[in-house]
Amino acid sequence: MSRVRPDAPSGLTRVAIAMAVSFLPLLPLALGASDLGDVANLLGLAGAIVMWWQVLLGVRQISHRLGDDRLAAVSLHRWLGGCGAFLVLLHPLLETVVDRQDWAYVLVPDFTWAESAYASLGRLAFLMFLALWLTSTLARYLIGHRVWRYAHYLSYPLLALVFVHSWGLGGYLTETPWLLAYWLGLAVTFAGVVCWRLSVSRWAVPYRLAGVERLSPTVSAYTFRALGRALDPQPGQFCYLRTSLRSRAHPFSVVRGGGKELTFAVKDAGSFTERLRALEPGAVVHLDGPYGTFTRAAQAGPRRPAVLIAGGIGVTPFVELVRRNDDLPLSLVHVVASPQEAVFGAELRRRLGERYQEVVRPDRPAIPVTPRARYFICGSPRFVEATAAGLRASGARRDQLYTERFDC
Ligand SMILES: Cc1cc2nc3c(=O)[nH]c(=O)nc-3n(C[C@H](O)[C@H](O)[C@H](O)COP(=O)(O)OP(=O)(O)OC[C@H]3O[C@@H](n4cnc5c(N)ncnc54)[C@H](O)[C@@H]3O)c2cc1C
Repeated sequence: MSRVRPDAPSGLTRVAIAMAVSFLPLLPLALGASDLGDVANLLGLAGAIVMWWQVLLGVRQISHRLGDDRLAAVSLHRWLGGCGAFLVLLHPLLETVVDRQDWAYVLVPDFTWAESAYASLGRLAFLMFLALWLTSTLARYLIGHRVWRYAHYLSYPLLALVFVHSWGLGGYLTETPWLLAYWLGLAVTFAGVVCWRLSVSRWAVPYRLAGVERLSPTVSAYTFRALGRALDPQPGQFCYLRTSLRSRAHPFSVVRGGGKELTFAVKDAGSFTERLRALEPGAVVHLDGPYGTFTRAAQAGPRRPAVLIAGGIGVTPFVELVRRNDDLPLSLVHVVASPQEAVFGAELRRRLGERYQEVVRPDRPAIPVTPRARYFICGSPRFVEATAAGLRASGARRDQLYTERFDC
């Protein structure tokens, strides 16, 4: 039986309150706004605060401290992207109207004199924002994960430009000393967050590759042993893994944890998983985490049947949950492309008996919906969305569904 923390709130309520408070300094200014120029300035300041929150929530080591549901923080971060887009778009458009300029004013930089140079920093930030917004929304699935990720790094210089732009142009900031102090506080915390984000070595812990086992034609299990401090994930949680301090971190659910060792089951996907396969025994990797609250509700609170539904490698968050909770009313449906891909099938069948069901595509799982059950769905975004939609169509309430997409 695993140790389970009580069914704590996700922490997002705390974040929402903190966000509301962070906008309060703009309230007296909004109440005193007298013309369109004031409104344009205020929208710019509000857009900067939204972007500040976006950066904070995008850095997992920070958002984790605000609330431990990493994927909910990512959703909020995305949602703010939409709001930010609206404010960031309106701000230069209104400024253009107020200054009676033509539309080129929004885009064409002019560094010939001081005020115009500060305004141009805003234009550069605006162009970066457009690139960021496009690669995160309309073009998200047209470009690869890597391009999307690199485009995301624009958010750091972008926000730095926004701070310099707003400080240089003055407006409310020069007229209102307490607002300037607040603004500097935001800028300093932003700089601190960026430094924290870049100092990977301070928060990633080293592990050594202790063993590799091929579980199926496409999935390998990697066991790592802590070289110093060990992470202590709960069932269903994931950690970020990087093969060197400078490489990108990738998330993987823990299939066996506790003590000094952690095991991940990794499906061959692209260049990172290929690098993992090339690791020699004894190679040092860096892990950070654990993150996630996906299966917490299955173990906490009143006992309710939990139906675990996995698409392919999406079974990984459920393995340790089943292993450590043989007294819970769990059942598992594993949907796979071929019987060989049903990794952990033998163990799960042994533990769950008839409550384990393996479904080979194109067959569809028959999952009865009952009002008391909770449904935990994990796999590719497409699998999760289709399965959740199917359950909803069969009468499942939204609050009965818990999802984790193997994507970000
Ligand atoms: C919470 C979570 C838990 C996961 N657990 C597992 C697991 O237990 N086993 C497993 O095999 N896979 C898991 N994944 C998916 C795994 O992270 C990706 O397959 C892996 O990062 C692919 O990297 P790649 O370079 O080999 O492939 P790529 O070809 O670069 O990527 C293949 C796909 O994986 C996703 N991906 C790529 N990089 C990242 C990243 N840094 N963060 C998130 N998604 C990414 C993208 O959707 C991409 O299209 C999990 C993903 C998430 C979000």
